[in-house]
Amino acid sequence: MVNKRETAGAGDLARYARQTSFEPLGEVGQRRLLAARVTLVGCGALGSVLAETLVRAGVGHLRIIDRDVVTLDNLQRQGLFDEDDVAAETPKAEAAAHKLSRINSTVSIDPIVADFRPSNAEQLCGAADLILDGTDNLATRFLINDVAVKNRVPWVFGACVAAEGRALAIIPGETACLRCIWRDPPPAGGTPTAETVGVLGAIVRVVAGFQAGEALKLLTGQQSAVNRNLLEVDLWQGQFHAIDVQLARAAGDCPCCQRGEYDFLTATRA
Ligand SMILES: [Zn+2]
Repeated sequence: MVNKRETAGAGDLARYARQTSFEPLGEVGQRRLLAARVTLVGCGALGSVLAETLVRAGVGHLRIIDRDVVTLDNLQRQGLFDEDDVAAETPKAEAAAHKLSRINSTVSIDPIVADFRPSNAEQLCGAADLILDGTDNLATRFLINDVAVKNRVPWVFGACVAAEGRALAIIPGETACLRCIWRDPPPAGGTPTAETVGVLGAIVRVVAGFQAGEALKLLTGQQSAVNRNLLEVDLWQGQFHAIDVQLARAAGDCPCCQRGEYDFLTATRA
């Protein structure tokens, strides 16, 4: 099957003029982006920013997985939704696809209203060039990590709570994975969540912006430019830290990326 995006003419690139003028990306990078396939797991706060940024940038295909419907308390930070979506109780994946198709009708968008779980994770991520983390819980992130490392698909982790956030790009076989850094997710109730301490829309934009930047590098074949450090931000204190996590990989005892044990995918763990 011919993908018209791979044979896009110069006229088709006009809408991306301010992006192709950015020398590290250029027309070559733009054409790669137009042919790229991304799976976004979770379309809440981070997911809204990630989806909008990539669709405006001209990613070829975006699959959006989210099981929830839009609620009133989402609107403070989830930028793709509005009060009509709340009234209609529209599933987030479908509301997002509707908005995104009006922003850039040339992007193929595939909304999936489903729970992302061990039994469907690999099938839902199949053929993706990149997986993006728009989830709100650590257990799902460990599942994404298993799928990504097993299938050698890059992914970009992101998380925020209160006014703080973290983000990390992961290239399986090359950079530290999530389990190199944290062996296990904390027990349920063991860490603050948006429900317990809130979350500001401003930190969401910072973290998702960093994730989207790493995504653009990965999708345009510029792995050498990918940030190897774990970003930690406290927006209220005005602090940004880049933490070197490659030593964690160098230790060589990661159950996931070193020993090939995909515990969350095989669901042998709680
Ligand atoms: Zn690892």
